[in-house]
Amino acid sequence: MNNKTQGTIGVTSDNIFPIIKKFLYSDHEIFLRELVSNAVDATQKLKTLASVGDYKGELGDLTVRISVDKKKKTITVSDRGIGMTADEIERYINQIAFSGAEEFVEKYKNDAQAIIGHFGLGFYSSFMVSEKVEIFTQSYKEDAPAVHWSCKGDPEFTLEQTIKSERGTDIVLHIDKENSDFLEENKITELLHKYCRFLPIEIAFGKKKEWKDGKEVETTEDNIVNETQPLWTLKPANLTDENYSKFYHNLYPMAEEPLFHIHLNVDYPFHLTGVLYFPKIKNNFEFQRNKIQLYCNQVFVTDAVEGIVPEYLTLLNGVLDSPDIPLNVSRSYLQSDQNVKKISSHITKKVADRLAEIFKNDRTQFEDKWNDLKIFIQYGMLSDEKFYERAEKFTLLTNTEKKYFTLEEYKALIAENQKDKDETLIYLYATNIDEQYTYINAAREKGYDVLLMDGQLDIHAIGQMEQKFEKSRFVRVDSEVIDKLIVKNDVSPVNFTDNQRDALIDIFNSSLPKTDKTNFIVTFENLGAEANPVFITQNEFMRRMKDMSALGGGMYSFYGDMPDSFSFVVNATHPLVENLLKNQQEICDEKVATFIVQIDENQKNINEIDERNKSKKYDEISQEDKDTKDNLNKKIEALKAEKRQIYTAYATENKQVGQLVDLALLANNMLKGEALANFVKRSVELM
Ligand code: ADP
Repeated sequence: MNNKTQGTIGVTSDNIFPIIKKFLYSDHEIFLRELVSNAVDATQKLKTLASVGDYKGELGDLTVRISVDKKKKTITVSDRGIGMTADEIERYINQIAFSGAEEFVEKYKNDAQAIIGHFGLGFYSSFMVSEKVEIFTQSYKEDAPAVHWSCKGDPEFTLEQTIKSERGTDIVLHIDKENSDFLEENKITELLHKYCRFLPIEIAFGKKKEWKDGKEVETTEDNIVNETQPLWTLKPANLTDENYSKFYHNLYPMAEEPLFHIHLNVDYPFHLTGVLYFPKIKNNFEFQRNKIQLYCNQVFVTDAVEGIVPEYLTLLNGVLDSPDIPLNVSRSYLQSDQNVKKISSHITKKVADRLAEIFKNDRTQFEDKWNDLKIFIQYGMLSDEKFYERAEKFTLLTNTEKKYFTLEEYKALIAENQKDKDETLIYLYATNIDEQYTYINAAREKGYDVLLMDGQLDIHAIGQMEQKFEKSRFVRVDSEVIDKLIVKNDVSPVNFTDNQRDALIDIFNSSLPKTDKTNFIVTFENLGAEANPVFITQNEFMRRMKDMSALGGGMYSFYGDMPDSFSFVVNATHPLVENLLKNQQEICDEKVATFIVQIDENQKNINEIDERNKSKKYDEISQEDKDTKDNLNKKIEALKAEKRQIYTAYATENKQVGQLVDLALLANNMLKGEALANFVKRSVELM
């Protein structure tokens, strides 16, 4: 080699450096990761050579050292690894195989990782922050002279012999103006912590400091920033629960004690190690705060693991380390990568196996932790068919008495008693023990069991179970009167006359609350003297649709705007109702009789018009008939309104009506504020 060479870096693109600077803007900081991991690689290579006897010299201190010189504006990464000969610099540094570089860069300009990976730009990423980069390197090979390479961020470089006392490589970055914040010690400390804290070769950044005479002074001891044998690289057999816990808190200093851990160790058909933890999630905000960290041979890559692990597993914490995940490609590519798919399904299997194991070996512990595990397991079951199949055996249902059951156990529990007349198995559930207490109680008295479904994902889980289970339905305990929750025989029809019904409808309606947000429909059932005289129920379907809409389901938003629709069920065979009916007849019948007669007459006339126009299309009906009919209808409405006034007056007089309505509202937690105060007052008066 001549004493000094000048050349042009082998890129087909005229000048790759502006491209690096421009497109890799957001990821500037990774330069340090790239340089330190190159240094670590070079050191490990030397160790390997030594271990197989290809290198016979002294290994010496192999620590990788980072130093910052604020005055000279340099950052230096030094290693005592294999170093490079001039020839190797030529091959590995100067000749970057750029084919179609511009085209590629254009395509991936928003994906710095992809560009770096594609070009093996690791080393060149240093130009993102430097105006000049120098390499001083001495190969481990005997007789190879040390070399000095220097490049100012354009495709021209110089390469010359130099004197270097020690084997290995110093990379010196002359940091440019815009990136001077990288010359701050804190910044480098932060980056080393983020990317290099688990690298397998010791990395020193300056010296340890200590307090002496009120001042912070440097000691002579190296400030080692990494842990060379992080927990996941060790054999599980040699580790205790305490080790796992300590490592967890090391990763996430603010987190609560995790529930369980899983140590992953796969050699075939891909390499994967790691430790995953089930976090204890205190509330919604904590979701995803602590993320799984992804490493590649102990180098931190990212904590955005979406696409690599199934979405529900991103709720877990911990680390994954795999050299087989193609980290330098775009996310969409990742999702279709076969290795990634295998890794993802392997993790799913491992997680399910571990849960199954805990369930089998220590059911009490599993039940104790169920509240924390539930959201995670349900999420998995809802989003991954394979996980559902595995979790089916250990997912739990909780009833309102706080007992836990597997799906199979629960089915066995209710099979006898909760089948309706069509042999459909009815799963009763409540979403709030206090609010739905009356209904839960009524169901229990019937010998039914009531599940508690108050979790964030329960509404979806119910939907899924209904799809999966044969001939089964979930019914909220307050969605029907008790006898109709599980219809065992055809119930006898209510034999009130139309006028009796209308009377009671008017009477109760006048006392029911009127708001835009709620809507009551008075209905009648034969429920016997044992049951309550009146109930409020909410239709299961409508309620679910509204719940879905509250969760933000696009297609359900229509339901969100609808008022809550309730049934006000009158128990026709309850003595109180029977008495009320008699009493109102005595007081009102005479007064309403004339209206009823007139309404009937008008209705008869309408029926006649309808009868003679029966076979006609709307257009063929004479205008006269249409007008008459309209008038008659208006008359009927007016008459009904007058009749209603009589019933309203009656309801106001008869305190029992308001009392019955309020009791039903109260049982449903719907009596609040002034209405509640009035109820209390009236109750006292009635006593
Ligand atoms: P990659 O590390 O992905 O191969 P780089 O551009 O970072 O790409 O490095 C190119 C090559 O330069 C490396 O493969 C290695 O052979 C050599 N190299 C870089 N840094 C060092 C170093 N500190 N010591 C020895 N060789 C190095």
